[in-house]
Amino acid sequence: CGIIGVLGSSEAAPRILTGLKRLEYRGYDSAGIATISDGTLDRRRAPGKLTNLETALSTTPLNGTGGIGHTRWATHGVPNETNAHPHATHRVAVVHNGIIENYAELRQELEAKGVVFESVTDAEVCPQLITHYLETENCTPVEAFRKAIERMRGAFAFAAIFSGEDDLMICGRKGSPLAIGRGDGEMYLGSDAYSLAPFTNRIIYLEEGDWAVIKREKLEIFDEAGNPVSRPETVSSASQ
Ligand code: GLU
Repeated sequence: CGIIGVLGSSEAAPRILTGLKRLEYRGYDSAGIATISDGTLDRRRAPGKLTNLETALSTTPLNGTGGIGHTRWATHGVPNETNAHPHATHRVAVVHNGIIENYAELRQELEAKGVVFESVTDAEVCPQLITHYLETENCTPVEAFRKAIERMRGAFAFAAIFSGEDDLMICGRKGSPLAIGRGDGEMYLGSDAYSLAPFTNRIIYLEEGDWAVIKREKLEIFDEAGNPVSRPETVSSASQ
């Protein structure tokens, strides 16, 4: 029910947790974080309150200055650890809010090609589709994300990080809100400006159908048709 992303210069997991706490008001039943460190993806997930995730992180910390986090309000699949986000393959980790209406047919299509799913969520088709395009069509992360988002119908917001890519987050929205925060050599994304207020007040709201390729020093936004677009940067008054 909420998404946070950080490409920063200090450890990402504690900062993502800070952002997720500011999304608690939306309600959730489980939570998780994935980070990228020296090209390697890793994740921790836990059902229930964020304190459970916090405990998991204190036992086995996540390294890396980039990552994504999620609070889940289950729509497809019970709220347990396996169904909690981020959903991941060895190539990509994804957080997703909303519903992918055609997930059953996409899942069937991928399973027919031998893809093995871990969870019963609608969300997992996103990392599996991206991985399929990365591996069978040799797509770049940007191409694979774009192809995947084009295949999915419904109302949603997504963010993804990729193995081997320490300076890259890609996100997109159709129907669910998503904001990008600009820092000093750092970039953030979040479901709202309030969740990003501890990090920055420089907020760029994505418009319907937009998707964005985010690096620490560079932000590129595209509309649904794939044209580069510029969206205004606003100064948020959300309290820290
Ligand atoms: N439909 C997804 C799921 O059940 C995402 C729910 C959400 O927005 O948190 O996993």
